[in-house]
Amino acid sequence: MHELRLSRDFNRTRDRTFDVAIVGGGITGVAIAREAAARGLDVCLVEKNDFGWFTSSATSKLLHGGLRYLEHYEFGLVRESIAERRRVGNASSHLVRELGIRIPVYRGQKVGRFQLKLGFLIYDALAWDRNKGVAEDLRLPRHNWLSAGRLSQMVPAVPSANLRGAFTYYEYQSVHPERLTLDWALTAVRAGALLFNHTRLERFEMGKEPDGSRRIDAAIVKDLESGSEHTLRARVFVNASGPWMEEVLGLAGNQPGHRLSKSTGIHFVTRPLFNHDHGLLFYTKDGGTFFVIPWQGHSLIGLTDAPYEGSPDDVVPRQFEVEQIYSYVNETLPGRPLRPDMIRNIIVGIRPLVFSGEKTTRAASRKFEIYDHGHEHHSAEEGIRGFVSVAGGKWTTSRRLGHDVVEELLHKSELAGRRTNIRPSDRRYPVVGSCGYGESARDYLAYAREQARSRKHPVDEDVLKQLVQSYGTRHTEILDRIDQDPDLAAPIEAANEGLAPHEVLAQIDQAIEAESAQSLDDIVRRRLLLGTVGRPTDETLARIASHAARLTGWDEKRREREIEQVVEFYRRALEPLKHLRD
Ligand SMILES: Cc1cc2nc3c(=O)[nH]c(=O)nc-3n(C[C@H](O)[C@H](O)[C@H](O)COP(=O)(O)OP(=O)(O)OC[C@H]3O[C@@H](n4cnc5c(N)ncnc54)[C@H](O)[C@@H]3O)c2cc1C
Repeated sequence: MHELRLSRDFNRTRDRTFDVAIVGGGITGVAIAREAAARGLDVCLVEKNDFGWFTSSATSKLLHGGLRYLEHYEFGLVRESIAERRRVGNASSHLVRELGIRIPVYRGQKVGRFQLKLGFLIYDALAWDRNKGVAEDLRLPRHNWLSAGRLSQMVPAVPSANLRGAFTYYEYQSVHPERLTLDWALTAVRAGALLFNHTRLERFEMGKEPDGSRRIDAAIVKDLESGSEHTLRARVFVNASGPWMEEVLGLAGNQPGHRLSKSTGIHFVTRPLFNHDHGLLFYTKDGGTFFVIPWQGHSLIGLTDAPYEGSPDDVVPRQFEVEQIYSYVNETLPGRPLRPDMIRNIIVGIRPLVFSGEKTTRAASRKFEIYDHGHEHHSAEEGIRGFVSVAGGKWTTSRRLGHDVVEELLHKSELAGRRTNIRPSDRRYPVVGSCGYGESARDYLAYAREQARSRKHPVDEDVLKQLVQSYGTRHTEILDRIDQDPDLAAPIEAANEGLAPHEVLAQIDQAIEAESAQSLDDIVRRRLLLGTVGRPTDETLARIASHAARLTGWDEKRREREIEQVVEFYRRALEPLKHLRD
């Protein structure tokens, strides 16, 4: 039907030496793959689960400069993040929107009005070019001040005693990070990279250079769908496994020279806590903070930052983190507005932070670092040639990270023979699905609406809007499917008190046929919005599984297993709610 698709053809890896093989299909690995392929390198990537399933989907949904980093005088990081915020917004405007965030200021508050004002002046100064070349709907105003009276009028739920007013500042919201990571993956494929999800690096085959240093001869990877193993050969290998960085280094027999500092962060996705179109950030009595952000018809509430020592594979939302956010909200806002039954999902992620010996993980920098294992040791024998690892970073700065890693790789002797015909880096590339770098998503929606009218089977306005947001220009692929089979326009989930996204059956076909969804979990929690905003009903899960089975050939037993896995995921994620007092 359409040409650009994610597929898993391992035959294409046979008898071939890639320039670059990447381990990890979070935004870090995908951004490196995109940059490397766009520059003209021959690239493959393996991801043991699904693209963007882990840290890259557990974010606060912000593409942001990082106001908070000013507390630690990280001006360089803030400046870089602001520049990258603009570039990601321009490159993928269908999945990005402007978000105002208000910070109410109270008399006697630890971080007072003066300190905040100073911070915002610096933040705005560092963002002087934030709107350069940006479409009107993504232009961000400077910070501003709202009186106490106005704020109370607009959001009565904000406590009014001792309220002085509120600052408002502006960032971008990534409205569906799972799909944005997927669009980057598709962009890498468009540039020529081969990406395999559900494919795990099992081990490396190591060799030796004449000077005694080690090198990676091949990576043995396992297709977790079929169980078959494949050998990947490459000139350089990149470890972009985020929180698993140390484990992957261990597979290369590396001494634990580089450590991560890992911390978990959780968010609640709840029924709307109150009626607001801005985010709100509160300081709590014990000096903490929490925010309530409007997101996809829900409230997104976060965020914890707690050291984590266990395996990333075992992480679940921990009771004390859930209680912390729950009590922050109910102790700060009048009338205890949050009840356990309003919480539809709890999302946990692990920050793979650069270890810097800071006292707390909250104080640790969010900068990224690139480790070249070929050149870091005192003696050649300790090094591993052609092997690079990445630690830290933010979703917002991933494009820059991808760029810097590829620059580093291009200087390596292993790629010396490949340096001719390398294309210059292009900061202004549109992500697949985007209507063009710096183009307006609002204008595109108007255009799409106009075009959709002449379709054989026009869809409802709500559905069209949702499709344009999720797929950008590629929403026409869903409409084509519906034109061929109008039954595919049926909603996936019934209205569910207005909380169900306006998603339709054709999207399941798209997920399987064009977006490499291998499991029900891939479909429900990443290709669709449905499963990130909350646990779908058993009936909906059964319906999606049967629909998917038409294309995947899942028999009844497999369907049941797929459903069980999804149900078990939510059971573990939502378990702490049972122990919260109402
Ligand atoms: C709670 C929280 C909130 C955040 N909020 C924001 C925010 O609002 N804005 C922002 O800019 N940033 C935010 N961040 C930071 C951002 O999410 C991360 O910097 C980014 O997602 C890291 O991506 P990654 O690709 O390095 O890691 P991951 O997304 O975790 O990807 C690593 C991948 O490697 C794979 N892998 C591991 N081992 C193997 C193997 N053996 N074989 C194959 N694959 C393997 C894993 O399956 C995984 O998918 C937040 C982070 C957290 C935790």
